[in-house]
Amino acid sequence: MVSAHCNCGAVAFEFDSASEDVFICHCFICRRSTGANGIAVVLVPRDEFRWLQGQENIVTWSRPGSQWATWFCRVCGSRLPGENDSERMFVPAGLLPGAGAGLKVRAHIWVDSRAEWDEIGDNGQQHPEQYVGGAG
Ligand SMILES: [Zn+2]
Ligand SMILES: [Zn+2]
Repeated sequence: MVSAHCNCGAVAFEFDSASEDVFICHCFICRRSTGANGIAVVLVPRDEFRWLQGQENIVTWSRPGSQWATWFCRVCGSRLPGENDSERMFVPAGLLPGAGAGLKVRAHIWVDSRAEWDEIGDNGQQHPEQYVGGAG
């Protein structure tokens, strides 16, 4: 069992297990939403994920024309797990306790869209655009 929360603690969640794989999206939407080089997530099966508190503090935003939503805390602005898929939760890796011990970057997506200053230095796979191979 892993439990985690946003910076202010208003929103908390837990899940049974996550794969050790971290996926990093370098697209411009993720860059803007984090103010960094993108966002790193781990994938958790929906039926193993539970919100513990603070769902009334969750705000979602999606770019017009896109079904992909960004989930964040209305109090502190921390990115939150997103219900963007019927089967999986996209849990920001930076929220995980223990500084994400045991996790490893498996793949980067939208690499061709990354910021000019964004140098990828790990051994994760690099996909120029989206990765449709799933997490397996
Ligand atoms: Zn918060
Ligand atoms: Zn992205």
